Amino acid sequence: MSPTDSAAANDEFAGLGLGPALLGTLSDLGYEEPTPIQRQAIPHLLEGRDLLGLAATGTGKTAAFALPLLQIIRIGEPTPSALILVPTRELAVQVAQAVHRYGRKLGVDVLPIYGGQSFSQQLRVLKRGVDVVVATPGRALDHLRRGTLALGGLKVLVLDEADEMLDMGFAEDIEAILAEVPERRQSLLFSATLGPRIEGIARQHLNDPVEVRIEAETDEGDGDVPLVRQVAYLVRRPHKLAALGRVLDLEAPEAALVFCRTRNEVDELTEALNGRGYRSEALHGGMSQEERDRVMKKLRAGSVDLVIATDVAARGLDISHLTHVVNYDVPSAAKSYVHRIGRVGRAGREGVAITLAEPREHPMLRNIERLTKQKIAVASLPTVADLRAHRLELTRASVRESIVEGDLGRFRAVVESLSDEFDLVDIALGAVKLAHEATVPGSEGDEEEIPEEQPFREKVRGEKAPKKGKRGAARKGGFTRIFIGAGRSARIRPGDLVGAITGESGISGDQIGAIQISERFSIVEISDEVAERVVQSMRAAKVKGKKVKVDMDRGR
Ligand code: AMP
Repeated sequence: MSPTDSAAANDEFAGLGLGPALLGTLSDLGYEEPTPIQRQAIPHLLEGRDLLGLAATGTGKTAAFALPLLQIIRIGEPTPSALILVPTRELAVQVAQAVHRYGRKLGVDVLPIYGGQSFSQQLRVLKRGVDVVVATPGRALDHLRRGTLALGGLKVLVLDEADEMLDMGFAEDIEAILAEVPERRQSLLFSATLGPRIEGIARQHLNDPVEVRIEAETDEGDGDVPLVRQVAYLVRRPHKLAALGRVLDLEAPEAALVFCRTRNEVDELTEALNGRGYRSEALHGGMSQEERDRVMKKLRAGSVDLVIATDVAARGLDISHLTHVVNYDVPSAAKSYVHRIGRVGRAGREGVAITLAEPREHPMLRNIERLTKQKIAVASLPTVADLRAHRLELTRASVRESIVEGDLGRFRAVVESLSDEFDLVDIALGAVKLAHEATVPGSEGDEEEIPEEQPFREKVRGEKAPKKGKRGAARKGGFTRIFIGAGRSARIRPGDLVGAITGESGISGDQIGAIQISERFSIVEISDEVAERVVQSMRAAKVKGKKVKVDMDRGR
């Protein structure tokens, strides 16, 4: 490994055919190397090929299409050059942000459009001219029909999370949009799963597509996977730091390697952890060899406990006393998971591999299990009560140790003089409190609640769309059904409900399960823990411009 790793990584992106402006942006973002789907897809896309990509969230698929797209389109045309269709408002915003981030140096104009947001605001921006529109199908179609979205100049069309869009009932809308886009265009379809409906769309609307599959990584021998305790926690990004802190406190690793995706994330996490009192050092491709050697020396000498690293920087390191590997994000490929956890559990020693996955990244865990043929247990994060109990246990152990060690005679006078005034147990309690505060500094501060997450749409994905008007128990495991007093007669579509709910209550699209739309009302499954909040905020809200009745579904 050399001090010029970051330049080498940039060479790898350059080797895919990306131009200098994009390369500069990637280096600013701290991306050290392309992910497998980027390696496979980008060169074909730059050649103008259509593409069918089988890849879940977390593989880097957004950059895989956004980077070449930015290079292919002409920026500054009067009408949009690219349209990206996505299933949810949340994803529309995320993808638009990603396109904006990658296209910063190119001056690209991006607009997310989705239901639940006012038309007039979207209209203003559309009139001004945008290069890339990221839209939910329902709202895109509304704009097309009103003549406010012109697709005549479209060069690239992307269907992102196509399986999800079909699950949400957007098939007809997608067909209607596809009928309006120019024949001569480049089309990309991404899906986490492949089924007859996706294949049908691909056959009909993609022109001799290249197929890229990230799922089928079963070629690596399972003999290489070390014996390691593997556990994953589902946690959203805003809670990741607190979650990591909690897990580290309970696991108390002797020496841990924590992996992040980018150089910038490594630096930020290192700083945040040091601010919380951990002893951590960064290790990434932007550092010189001497700097990295120094970090490794500190880890070996025990003067740091955590090394926060990118894959590139950690490659080839041999740290024999490593007890834990932590994936702060799910790695972008199952193979890199195997490489990462291969650093612990060597030579018969016990090792632990911990993964913090966003709920949406849950399918990636399944990919990894398929490759390793080992189970990754999805565990609940330690609660505040667990943490307190653990901390008290630490204090108990140190008090016990101090008694066993003896040599306590010089404190006897203190106890005896206090015992005139207080009970012996009270004196002991006071002393333990002091010891506790001293052994676990700041222990009572870091106790924010971290919401328990459900695997992403696991109960819904792959099933047929629920039958309309289905009756049954109001509660399904993990989801609560909510009644919304507007349905087909009010021309409500799933996207409208998702848009209104995520917009009004601030929950994310993946906390929404199945949606059933009947003539006069709709039933929406909402994650248990946020259902009440959704009901409250939807009561004050409007759906398609009208106030509607919203309540917990009592099994109508
Ligand atoms: P996606 O699968 O598109 O949702 O991307 C997952 C995450 O990986 C996003 O946060 C991206 O910013 C990040 N990412 C994408 N490509 C790379 C890369 N080559 N190196 C590091 N991070 C990346």
